[in-house]
Amino acid sequence: MKPMQSSLKKWMQENKNFQENYIKIKEEVVNDPEIKEFLSLHPQLTQREIDRNLIKLYEYKTQSKQCSSCSSFEQCQNMLQGYSPILQIENGEIRLSYEKCHSRLLHEKEQQQQKLIQSLYMPKEILQARIEDIDHSDRQRNQAVLELLNFLGKADGSLPQKGLYFHGPFGVGKTYFLGAIANKLREYNISSMIIYMPEFVREIKGSFKDDSINEKIDYFKKADVLMLDDIGAEMQSAWFRDEILGSILQYRMMERLPMFFTSNYSLAQLEGQLASTRSGVETVKAGRIIERIKQVSTPVNIEGDNRRE
Ligand code: ADP
Ligand code: MG
Repeated sequence: MKPMQSSLKKWMQENKNFQENYIKIKEEVVNDPEIKEFLSLHPQLTQREIDRNLIKLYEYKTQSKQCSSCSSFEQCQNMLQGYSPILQIENGEIRLSYEKCHSRLLHEKEQQQQKLIQSLYMPKEILQARIEDIDHSDRQRNQAVLELLNFLGKADGSLPQKGLYFHGPFGVGKTYFLGAIANKLREYNISSMIIYMPEFVREIKGSFKDDSINEKIDYFKKADVLMLDDIGAEMQSAWFRDEILGSILQYRMMERLPMFFTSNYSLAQLEGQLASTRSGVETVKAGRIIERIKQVSTPVNIEGDNRRE
C-alpha cells in the first residue's frame, strides 16, 4: 500500500507544481507590455482562446523582437537565429509566425556581396574602426570629423544624397574613417561596400573570363553606400575610367545614392591623374568623371600626422 501512496503523493506534488507554474507563466504572459497591447487591440479574443494559446503567447514573449535584445546577428538569442516573431489574428485564431530580422537581412546582403566580390578584403583595424575612437583633439582633422558626424546624423533618418571625398596625405586616417562610417551605418541597418581601387580594377578586369562582370557592376551601382578607397592609386585605363567607373557614377548620381572616396589627390589633382592614360591626355573625359564625383560626394581635406609612424 505504501508505494502506491507515495507515488500518488508525488504525482499530486508535481501536479501542484505544474499548476503553480502554469499560473505563474500565465501571469507573466498577460502582464507583458507587448502582449497586453496585442490583446487590447483584439478585444474579441475570449479568455478560452487566450488560455488555449498560452504557449504561443509565451513563446512570443520570450523572443527578441527585431533585434531589441540582441547586439548583432551572431549574438542573436532567438530559437531561430535571425528570425523575429510576429503575432497576428488569422481567421479568428491567434497565429505566431517568424520573419527575418534586420540583422539577418543585412548579414545575408553582406554575405552575397562577399561571395561575388573577392577583393572586398579590408584590414582588421579598418573593419573594427569606430567613430567613438576617433581622436577629437586633433584639430587638423576637425573639419573632416564634423562632416562625417553631419552625414551620420542625417543617415539615421534617411540616406543623404552625398557622401564625402576625403583627400590628404598618406597615413592621416582616411581609410580608417571609411571603416568607422561603415560600422556606424551598419547600426542603422545600412550596408556599405568598401573597395580598394587598385583591387577594384583588377577584380573587374579579372571577371572578363566568366560572365559575372555585369552582375558585379550592378552590385557597385546599387549598393546602399559605395566607398572607393584610394582613388587615383589604380593603374589608369581609359576603358575602366569611362565604361566602369563612369557608368557606376552615372547610375548613382541619377539614383541619388551616396559615395565615399579616399585619395591622396585633391579633385583638381585627380582630374590630371584620370586624364593621362595610354590613350593620351583626355581632359574632357576626366572632367566628366570629376563632375560626377562632385554630385555624389563633398570634398573634405584631412591633414595631420602620419599615424603609421
Ligand atoms: P590613410 O588611409 O589616410 O593612408 P589609414 O586610415 O590607413 O590612413 O590610417 C593609418 C593608420 O592609423 C592605420 O593603422 C589606422 O588603423 C590608424 N588610425 C587612423 N586613424 C585612427 C584613429 N582615429 N584611431 C586609431 N587609429 C587610427
Ligand atoms: Mg588609405
